[in-house]
Amino acid sequence: MPERADVVVVGAGFAGLTAARELTHRGTTVTVLEARDRIGGRTWTAERLGRPLELGGTWVHWTQPHVWAEISRYQLELTRSPVPARAYWHVGGQAHEGSADELFARFDPGMQAFLADSREWFEWPWEPFRRPDPDVLHALDRQSVTDRIDALGLPPADRELLAGMWALNFNSPPEDGALTQALRWCAAASGSWPLMFETCATVKFTHGTKALADAIAADTDADIRLGTVVTKIRRTSTGVAVETASGKTFEAGDVVVTLPQNVLPSIEFEPGLPAVLRDAARAGQASKGMKTWIRVRGEVEPFVVFAGPDSPLTFGQTEYTVDGDTLLVAFGPRASALRPDDTEAVAKALALWRPDLEVVAADGHDWVADEFAGETWPMLAPGQLRALEEFRKPQDRLHFAGSGYATGWAGFVDGAIETGLTVARRLLTR
Ligand SMILES: Cc1cc2nc3c(=O)[nH]c(=O)nc-3n(C[C@H](O)[C@H](O)[C@H](O)COP(=O)(O)OP(=O)(O)OC[C@H]3O[C@@H](n4cnc5c(N)ncnc54)[C@H](O)[C@@H]3O)c2cc1C
Repeated sequence: MPERADVVVVGAGFAGLTAARELTHRGTTVTVLEARDRIGGRTWTAERLGRPLELGGTWVHWTQPHVWAEISRYQLELTRSPVPARAYWHVGGQAHEGSADELFARFDPGMQAFLADSREWFEWPWEPFRRPDPDVLHALDRQSVTDRIDALGLPPADRELLAGMWALNFNSPPEDGALTQALRWCAAASGSWPLMFETCATVKFTHGTKALADAIAADTDADIRLGTVVTKIRRTSTGVAVETASGKTFEAGDVVVTLPQNVLPSIEFEPGLPAVLRDAARAGQASKGMKTWIRVRGEVEPFVVFAGPDSPLTFGQTEYTVDGDTLLVAFGPRASALRPDDTEAVAKALALWRPDLEVVAADGHDWVADEFAGETWPMLAPGQLRALEEFRKPQDRLHFAGSGYATGWAGFVDGAIETGLTVARRLLTR
């Protein structure tokens, strides 16, 4: 016999957990089906290199209204990443060293020019489609980040540095990222790129993102089934039937799907998804990069590093000390070029800036190879705004939630919570 609930939620990341909490608080019965043996999805606080580390999402900020409300609600403790004293950057085949302020001053003209019209295009960041001329927006959406960088006509070293900054932000080569996504991020930070940058890499949970995921899960009486892989969702005469890899069927009035766009094709939908969604899922979104943690010998003065988009690592900074050693976090735009736990290769990449450091070990999770993620933080590719608009509408009894389908801080934990709230409210209102 199939099991029944009012709503089935597929995925226990922040979107799924939030939707489940909102629905159960109003008396709706919810079953959450999660493929992994843990909740949290693309956030994962795990013991590595001598302390708990964030293998996925980490930083939050007071410019992010949805996650900040959760921090207030559950009274979660926050801490900040160390302020870098020194900066090392590698452009034009040359190594440079200076203060962090010097490096950020070098970014400033390029970033200002790149983002100058973000507020014009997205006056209402949480309503990107609120425009009199949607076709003009979709024409802009055909441009990549690289198209905009090329149009700026910067000197080669500044161009390389700017492209490296966007390779970091998209966790992908900048030619794969949509210009509109970059403009939307900056608009959400009220048009200020330094505020946008601060939002992305400064404030974090003292006890990890796990503390927030656990708090939400403890605040819902949804039935959360771990280790349950959904394979098919079909329409029935009364609602939906959700089938799992182990042959179980769950029936519900509605289903909320929170899968990352890049793994959506792993589920069979009956009837099939509209073409615009199918095509976007098949094409995948941009972020196919990597994040690694690096333990280096000894206590090292806080620093930040940057390089152009062709380097295996484009950004890194010091985060913790552990037993007299220092832990760095670093990002690269191509998971295919560098495995996060390949200590030798990561050490070689770090030596671009700091050949003096002895790397003890590197560790991390390959999210792109992860069958339940297929991507890191969701960032749209050129031309995918149309699909975003469609993902945000109910598809009969099927609803999409997830940070890739958010409007405001899309790609962040905040965006995941935003969509969990929105979809739950839609169902409760109906
Ligand atoms: C390396 C990295 C760094 C990041 N850094 C930050 C950061 O600093 N700040 C920030 O705000 N955000 C960051 N993010 C992004 C943030 O983690 C995500 O946007 C957010 O966690 C996504 O939540 P979600 O619920 O939308 O999706 P997910 O967390 O991906 O949840 C979807 C869930 O669906 C499950 N699932 C998949 N397939 C199936 C299936 N067939 N059946 C059942 N369940 C299935 C998955 O296991 C997963 O648990 C980062 C992400 C990564 C990967």
